[in-house]
Amino acid sequence: MSPSASAPPEPTPLPPIVPPSVNINALDRLLAPLNTEQLLRQVIVDAFPDRTVVTTSFGAESAILLALIAGIDPATPVVFLDTGYLFAQTLSYRDRLVRHLGLTDVRTVAPDPADLAREDPSGDLHKFDPDRCCRLRKALPLEKALAGFDVWISGRKRFHGGERAALPRVEADGRFLKINPLADWGEDDMARAFADAGLPRHPLVEHGFTSVGCFPCTEPSGGGGYSRAGRWAGSDKTECGIHGPKGRGALT
Ligand code: SF4
Repeated sequence: MSPSASAPPEPTPLPPIVPPSVNINALDRLLAPLNTEQLLRQVIVDAFPDRTVVTTSFGAESAILLALIAGIDPATPVVFLDTGYLFAQTLSYRDRLVRHLGLTDVRTVAPDPADLAREDPSGDLHKFDPDRCCRLRKALPLEKALAGFDVWISGRKRFHGGERAALPRVEADGRFLKINPLADWGEDDMARAFADAGLPRHPLVEHGFTSVGCFPCTEPSGGGGYSRAGRWAGSDKTECGIHGPKGRGALT
């Protein structure tokens, strides 16, 4: 699966790289000729074995990246955040995809109950401070789950727009080397990959959900493709904040 129709060049073996000393620009140039599979193989198998983690929401698009990962090493650690507000369909889709792809190290991570009791005792924080809610239910548990890893693969894409429009394939994010192997994929690439690989769809896609997050903050988008318009609809919020410095640190 790759957005490029032309035959890619043979991959160049990466030198040993130790984040955070890695030169991001040099690494980006080195990886630029590689197609998506080659990039992932270089990162997971050749350059950073045992140091790489993948995050996924088991949402509308997640099957693509997870299928690519499974094709390279199904034992690659995959972290999934169960905020406590996920659709039941997302949890069943997780189980179905894990079986379908043969992933063997999917780690479901939940918020700390003590944090929830202290910060969101009535469970309605999302209504009046969604940034703090995302931090409590996503960023903080994720930070714990990512301890011990220093290379983080995400499934974000430029076509999502907003902050993602200029997404590089390789970036520094705090202490992490962040790899965005699907950054340059388009909606047509996604549709082709789903069809070619026969991947199951998230059950809510057929009900108009083009991006799936927590149920209080997700609506059908009313459009097609992979629009994120149904996420935090009616507000300025477009990201949960786990990517970039916004989501870092303790609750204050
Ligand atoms: S998406 Fe909504 S419910 Fe989920 S963690 Fe963020 S604010 Fe809370």
